[in-house]
Amino acid sequence: MTEAAARPKRNQATGAWADGDTTPLNPNEVFKQADDGLNVRTRIEEIYSKEGFASIPGDDLRGRMRWWGLYTQRKPGIDGGKTASLPPEALDDEFFMLRVRSDGGALSNEQLRTIAGISTEFARDTADISDRQNIQLHWIRVEDVPEIWRRLEAVGLMTTQACGDTPRVILGSPVAGIAESELIDGTPALEHIRDTYIGSPEFSNLPRKFKTAISGSPNLDVAHEANDISFVGVVHPEHGPGFDLWVAGGLSTNPMFAQRLGAWVPLAEVPEVWKGVVSIFRDYGYRRLRNRARLKFLMADWGPEKFREVLETRYLKRRLLDGPAPDATNVRRDHVGIHPQRDGLFWVGVAPIAGRVSGTILARVADLAATHGSGRVRLTPHQKLLVLDVPEGAVEALVGEPDALGLQARPSEFRRGVLACTGIEYCKLALVETKARARTIVTELEARLPDFDVPFTIHVNGCPNACARTQVADVGLKGMVQTDADGNLVELFQVHLGGSLGATSQLARKTRALKVAAPDLPDYIERLARTFLAQRDGDESFAQ
Ligand code: SF4
Repeated sequence: MTEAAARPKRNQATGAWADGDTTPLNPNEVFKQADDGLNVRTRIEEIYSKEGFASIPGDDLRGRMRWWGLYTQRKPGIDGGKTASLPPEALDDEFFMLRVRSDGGALSNEQLRTIAGISTEFARDTADISDRQNIQLHWIRVEDVPEIWRRLEAVGLMTTQACGDTPRVILGSPVAGIAESELIDGTPALEHIRDTYIGSPEFSNLPRKFKTAISGSPNLDVAHEANDISFVGVVHPEHGPGFDLWVAGGLSTNPMFAQRLGAWVPLAEVPEVWKGVVSIFRDYGYRRLRNRARLKFLMADWGPEKFREVLETRYLKRRLLDGPAPDATNVRRDHVGIHPQRDGLFWVGVAPIAGRVSGTILARVADLAATHGSGRVRLTPHQKLLVLDVPEGAVEALVGEPDALGLQARPSEFRRGVLACTGIEYCKLALVETKARARTIVTELEARLPDFDVPFTIHVNGCPNACARTQVADVGLKGMVQTDADGNLVELFQVHLGGSLGATSQLARKTRALKVAAPDLPDYIERLARTFLAQRDGDESFAQ
């Protein structure tokens, strides 16, 4: 295909820059073109942190500050019935959520202690492990942000492009470099991309967010099907270990799994291919409608063959090698439990309920990791936490201590399988409560079904945006609100059943009529779990 043929026909409706017209077609495109989101940092340091919340104009407050990981959090006491009807400024609290990147989920002991200290000193002891290996802090005041950045950056952490229309945190295998079964360690490529492109104006104005995942683990542990670009470890029959390239996955309100391009990428070429794909998104991505801007919509129009052709001819200027698909056997992806490392030491994976921890807990984990291991920890895309490098003789001593913190290394299947997004406690888009709901579901089911021992995932989401991957759980719960006959607002969850990732990747079935009142969720899921156990055929999983 020639360059001219590869270029799509001019189509004003898409707003793609490659069409030759960069006129901003929606309010987000207007503020992004008016001033790069990265430039707000200077104003935060020199003006807003000194003059306070009221000094921040709207485009910075609800727009550009995301480029530095800062979202205004939801004003307490506003119920989900008002989420859609109130103007955005009515939902804004004077405090922020601050998202701290941990690309690959890897944290040194010093980094973990720093985050813990910031949490206790500036964030009312809040901390959530997100399902993208970030740590999210709440109750942050703009006055404290420069000092928080100073402490984070002193230990090599950052909040740069943790949110916004940018390349977000890069998911990496939580057991990169330590797992016996690893096919290839993607860490050098992950670090190269982070160090070269994160914070660069080259990719600081994308049509929407751009999610990356790199893992050489055969456990397929980074939800590669749901990322905009994923490099998945495979062994090429002639060239050895490398990565299979997947592009344009995304869930949210129009869920689409990533597509394989059929290309094999050696480790050294991962950054170049990443740059090519994110450049396609920047240039050809749709910028007219926000809800059609994710890369998956371009892929839906182009298909994987054309996407690969454009990548090779216009951006890489060379052909990629064909390669094999990953072996998608159904294995546990979360790394919870006690596992041998390739160096004879062990990692211990623990399960806080739906990722909720605190600065106090993280500081204690840092102590335990230093006492019983090397001090290193990892966060996982399943909202779990791993302590690395534990000698065999120290494993049981370590396992007992996080247990007391609510971080179990041998959790129930319900505790292990639950994810929850931020929800109405802090999120301005939320309709319902999620984290506390997840805790209630888990503790109730543990009491009612103490012997339940089959993998079972429950993903609790506060709105249709599916941040906690509603559509790929055994039981996906999407929050909504309704007014009952007496005029009271009630929280409900629409139920999605039978979703999964892995060998049997499939989007859950959604039954419009199947809505469960929030207080009834434990009863409903208990009935489902009991029916599943009674009717299960051999090793059949819930999704089969
Ligand atoms: Fe907020 Fe909705 Fe995402 Fe939950 S799914 S964090 S409620 S936007």
